[in-house]
Amino acid sequence: MDFAFTEEQELMRATVREFCEKEITSEKIREWEETLDFMPQDVWDKAAAMGLFAASIPEEYGGEGADMVTAMVGFEEISKASTAVALGVGATIGFGTRPIVELGTGEQKKEFLPQIAEGKLRFALALTEPAGGTDILGAISTYADSDGDDFVINGQKTYITGAHVADYLTTVAITDRENTKRAHALSIIMVPADTPGIEIRTIPKVSTHCCGSCEIFYGDVRVPKTNLLGTLNNGWYDVLSTLNPERIGVAMISVGLAERVFEDCLAYSKQREAFGKPIGQFMIIQHYLADMAVGIENARNLVYKCAWLADSGRPYHVEATMAGLYASQMALDAATVGMEIFGGYGVTMEADIQRYWRDSQQMVFSPISNEMSKNFIAQCYGLPKSF
Ligand SMILES: Cc1cc2nc3c(=O)[nH]c(=O)nc-3n(C[C@H](O)[C@H](O)[C@H](O)COP(=O)(O)OP(=O)(O)OC[C@H]3O[C@@H](n4cnc5c(N)ncnc54)[C@H](O)[C@@H]3O)c2cc1C
Repeated sequence: MDFAFTEEQELMRATVREFCEKEITSEKIREWEETLDFMPQDVWDKAAAMGLFAASIPEEYGGEGADMVTAMVGFEEISKASTAVALGVGATIGFGTRPIVELGTGEQKKEFLPQIAEGKLRFALALTEPAGGTDILGAISTYADSDGDDFVINGQKTYITGAHVADYLTTVAITDRENTKRAHALSIIMVPADTPGIEIRTIPKVSTHCCGSCEIFYGDVRVPKTNLLGTLNNGWYDVLSTLNPERIGVAMISVGLAERVFEDCLAYSKQREAFGKPIGQFMIIQHYLADMAVGIENARNLVYKCAWLADSGRPYHVEATMAGLYASQMALDAATVGMEIFGGYGVTMEADIQRYWRDSQQMVFSPISNEMSKNFIAQCYGLPKSF
């Protein structure tokens, strides 16, 4: 086994780190979180110019054809800089690039991938519905009915990350009304967000202010059938296959967040004094930090292992679920302890730790709740379905 990163990967890390140190500073994030519901356009454009979106796109479509480990090295740096920015760019990579690379027709790849590589298109995944996200098959009631060469979509989605700034809504809808087995009745359709009949509203939330989440209302939304992604009525299985890379990405967002928590807590524990000495001299603070360091190391290794499994063509759905579960809980625990280390200062809006803590609440149930992840992992070891 070789845990070392290649020269190319180290170059990726250095490039993205330098970009973040200049463009996604703590000062900027504090301002964006107060004033914006998505990262500024100029930072998006600079990220595209740096090659952030091109990295995961095959060379024949204008990308760099980087493997998953290399892409994750860059994404770790973005995640460390800002959870909201990572979610913002991650949505397009996870719900645009990866499904199109995996499921798209030759025409779709030619049309969309070069534009994504240049940062000209944004995507959002519209899967969750108001009746429930965990039991999506039981909850889904958005229909895409066939009408000549078009689908006509009616329904509602909720909590959709970045829908308000997306060019395309990667929408999962029922395309076979007759089939009572929902898993065989869904399809994925790339819906241009400016299609008449679409209404999008952002939902105020506690976490990741500068990456808005939205409700989407579809009223007789007409989309050409050429926008079908993957196979008609196989959308459930198609979407599941593209969600595995997303789980690795979201796990990395949690790792990045925890790394930031650790850095800030470490610095504060050296600087803040009580009883005439730095609080970092007290054993309990040292143990808090040691626990964080161990958690980060474990989660980070698991995430990179998933990326390595993906790159080497091995299955990784169980590990990806473990990574999401472990990393999100670890980040939440680290941020909660971090709040304690910062004492009174932690609850003031001046301190970044409160933002890390708020942001860490989100990853334990999105994209999949940790309870459901545990159900799934247990089933993978042969236990019966518990629900
Ligand atoms: C900020 C944010 C961004 C999001 N972004 C997107 C997005 O871009 N696209 C998208 O499609 N969705 C998105 N989601 C939705 C997200 O995937 C769902 O919130 C998630 O799947 C959980 O669904 P729910 O919120 O409806 O909770 P529910 O399904 O109502 O679950 C509520 C609770 O019950 C528990 N529960 C339910 N069933 C079981 C069971 N069988 N066993 C044990 N416990 C169970 C859950 O674990 C949870 O704790 C986002 C959500 C948020 C909040």
